[in-house]
Amino acid sequence: MTSPRVVVVGAGQGGLETAAALRGRGFSGRITLVGDECVLPYQRPPLSKGFLTGATGATDPADLELRPASFFATQGIDLVPGDRAERIDRECRVLHLESGAALPYDHLVLATGARPRPLPVPGAGLSGVLALRGLRDAHTLRRELSGPARHLVVVGAGFIGLELAATARTLGHEVTVVEAQSRALARALTPEMSAWLTDEHRRQGVRLLLSREVAALHGDPSGQVEIMELDGGERIPAELVVVGIGVLPHTELAAEADLVVGDGIVVDERLRTSDPAIHAVGDCARFPRPGARGHTRIESVQNASDQARCVAADICGEGAPYTAVPWFWSEQYAVRLQIAGLTAGHDEVVLAGDPGEARFSVFCFQAGRLVGVESVNRPADHGIARRLLAGGTDLSPEEVGAPGFDLKQYQRAPAPAPAPAPVTAPRERPVHVAHA
Ligand SMILES: Cc1cc2nc3c(=O)[nH]c(=O)nc-3n(C[C@H](O)[C@H](O)[C@H](O)COP(=O)(O)OP(=O)(O)OC[C@H]3O[C@@H](n4cnc5c(N)ncnc54)[C@H](O)[C@@H]3O)c2cc1C
Repeated sequence: MTSPRVVVVGAGQGGLETAAALRGRGFSGRITLVGDECVLPYQRPPLSKGFLTGATGATDPADLELRPASFFATQGIDLVPGDRAERIDRECRVLHLESGAALPYDHLVLATGARPRPLPVPGAGLSGVLALRGLRDAHTLRRELSGPARHLVVVGAGFIGLELAATARTLGHEVTVVEAQSRALARALTPEMSAWLTDEHRRQGVRLLLSREVAALHGDPSGQVEIMELDGGERIPAELVVVGIGVLPHTELAAEADLVVGDGIVVDERLRTSDPAIHAVGDCARFPRPGARGHTRIESVQNASDQARCVAADICGEGAPYTAVPWFWSEQYAVRLQIAGLTAGHDEVVLAGDPGEARFSVFCFQAGRLVGVESVNRPADHGIARRLLAGGTDLSPEEVGAPGFDLKQYQRAPAPAPAPAPVTAPRERPVHVAHA
């Protein structure tokens, strides 16, 4: 009998972790990792943070590599960089690449990620209008931000938009953020946390415009953007525009192969697509969350990595439903924001700590049950909250609101079911929800 062949499409966080986790589980068949970028798989989180500011350990592209080149040789993983998967022949179980190569598979894993949603206004194609997803975008942005102070306008007050605003302010640029929603990070954060973060950006000198839409961008005769026109006709200087209004998952390959898609590649609780020989993980996967109605798509390092390990287990015949507690992280100025669980749908919040000192947590409850905790500069709260959420907890709003409440008293909550040891040391850097 020949050993099984796994082909992974997308050499980003989820694709690399899938290949590594398979080997870590002792999978002895052939593994091919196909990526359309021409570099080794790398971490994206520093691209909106340290890579732009020049922070130690994040400025050289080699610092961002998830694994050195030698890893692929020693693990027997065939890395195919700079080639694009173009078509899946499900009947013959063959993946066709742009280069003309045809890769037979027994299991195919789609880890194709997402691309930035384009800004649908006149002038969006002018030079100086940028988006940030990959290393190439980050190089361009770094070059643009390394010169004299300029007027930067960020469209979208999501994680990437706000991280970029913080980075650009730190570098001394004039920053305006334009957000169509009535509050920042409306999809990911409680109104309480979103209001606090908005104030922090304003304290740092960012002009944050809420409930405002971009109507058009205007350029100079050379085609360089110089003015942004808002709804209502206001015109603001915009020497550089960065668009961070969300992402579109890469579903084309799956859709053309007649797999079920819809804002993501739809998978079941074991992350199998409508074809059981094909899994999907990470930003491109739309999966059922335990206890929640419908399917969810999460854009985070934790989600891509944990889903990769779940798929590796399934391929090795040791699968279980994907139940990991989501957790996220963002850094803006001196604020380390960490989120455990998903807070959407909460109906009660209780605050612990001191927002004035930038050290506090927002505990979110739904029908009296803890569903998520947002923490600012309280890493211990975050760690314990993740444990509590994974183990099931009866922590009540009254307990959190009681004088002298300290989450550390609860850190002996039952440990979550043991996860298979990650092959790749998880970096204590991760985190985010819809990272856009
Ligand atoms: C600037 C930035 C900052 C971020 N910060 C954080 C953070 O602080 N914390 C956090 O948790 N998350 C953060 N994220 C999100 C996190 O990086 C993603 O959720 C994670 O990378 C998702 O992994 P993935 O494997 O699904 O997709 P990716 O890492 O995007 O990998 C997908 C890969 O597939 C390739 N590909 C797509 N189609 C094809 C094809 N047909 N053939 C071959 N290759 C293909 C893509 O080019 C890409 O290389 C950030 C993201 C960005 C862009």
